[in-house]
Amino acid sequence: MANCCVCEKPLSMLSGVNIYSGKICKECAAKAPSVAMAHSSNWSSYSIEAMIQYENEVFDQFDATASYGELHIDTVHGLFAISKKLKDDKPITRDVFSALDLSEVALYCKSPRVDNHVVYVDVEFMCRIEPLSLNIKQVIKHKVRCETKRVDSAHVEWQTPGDLQIFIEMFNTMLSGLWQRMNMMLF
Ligand SMILES: [Zn+2]
Repeated sequence: MANCCVCEKPLSMLSGVNIYSGKICKECAAKAPSVAMAHSSNWSSYSIEAMIQYENEVFDQFDATASYGELHIDTVHGLFAISKKLKDDKPITRDVFSALDLSEVALYCKSPRVDNHVVYVDVEFMCRIEPLSLNIKQVIKHKVRCETKRVDSAHVEWQTPGDLQIFIEMFNTMLSGLWQRMNMMLF
């Protein structure tokens, strides 16, 4: 009988989640970010323990102040979360991260397509959480309607949705505020 690589609980043959170095129990898997556990076999038990520890430190602080699709920000605490929905302003999975830990971040429209003379896009979020070596790339809102203008018989022009632009500005304001605070601490 195998044991969970994180909490050492005995696992039956069919239970548990495969990771790079063995198996972990469902309880431990649920304490780690779901964006990482979607590719659970990439991670060592050491990495998963670090993620569980990380979530223990940030998760309870999170209180959403704004959302766009499945991406939520807490501008007061400088945190963001990825979750299909919120319950009492908290994500339903352990996917909360500190914006200060970002080493790359982008939020953009992709896959534009025309349906009945209107352009629709998917909105994708991409980032890297440096301390966890975690790369995230996820569509956070599907089939978003864009302001569309017909240029000629073969071409249309479309614009980034206004509410997405506002959300990007809020995210950027949070980031620049955090960096200003960091610089004040460092210099
Ligand atoms: Zn376990």
